Order: sequence, then C-alpha cells, then structure tokens
Amino acid sequence: MINDKMGVKELPAAGVITEHGNSEQFNTGEWRNRKPKHLLDKCKHCMMCVPVCPDCAIIHSEEDKMCGFDYSKCKGCGVCSAVCPFKAIEMVDEDCEVDE
Ligand code: SF4
Ligand code: SF4
Repeated sequence: MINDKMGVKELPAAGVITEHGNSEQFNTGEWRNRKPKHLLDKCKHCMMCVPVCPDCAIIHSEEDKMCGFDYSKCKGCGVCSAVCPFKAIEMVDEDCEVDE
C-alpha cells in the first residue's frame, strides 16, 4: 500500500495501480481548474452521479441524498455533470464561490 511515509524509491513505477479504489488516499483536487456546483433545486437525488465519480468525491447521506462534493478529492473532470439527467451539476471556474 502507498502511504505518505514512503520515500520516492519505494513508490511503484508511474501508471501501476497497486490496489483498486485507492483514489480516496490522495487529495486529487489540488490540480483542478474547474469544479462542479450542485444545483440543489434541480437535484432529484437519483444517485446516478455517485458511481461514476472516479475520485469518490460525491458526498451522499445514508438515506441516499446527494449532499455535495468533497473538493479535496474532486479533480474537476466533469463526468458527474455529464451524466446528471436533471442538469443539477454545473461545471464552474475554480474561483467561483460555491457552498461547501
Ligand atoms: S445525478 Fe443529478 S439529480 Fe441525480 S443525484 Fe446527482 S446531482 Fe442529483
Ligand atoms: S467533477 Fe464530478 S465526477 Fe469528476 S471528480 Fe469531481 S465530483 Fe467526481
């Protein structure tokens, strides 16, 4: 397992996935220039956006209510916005203010 105590010589070669689902270990939101904005008035909580996020960055409650984004993980790829059938996720510039 990769962790923040490892030196550069201990890391696997670039592009090698040592374990699945490891995006939660990294703050992939550090290099984003656009981000998703949740439009709550349009959201039907269908949960279609949740499984497509490659970084597990969509926050939802145990009652399956979409609650917004973990911006430390979200890399701004826009997949969630593309799949939302209700146009409830708008991609905006990184410096745009959003509720977090
Ligand atoms: S896909 Fe759209 S409508 Fe469905 S939970 Fe996500 S934001 Fe809400
Ligand atoms: S833009 Fe959407 S799908 Fe892409 S990383 Fe952020 S929350 Fe996940």
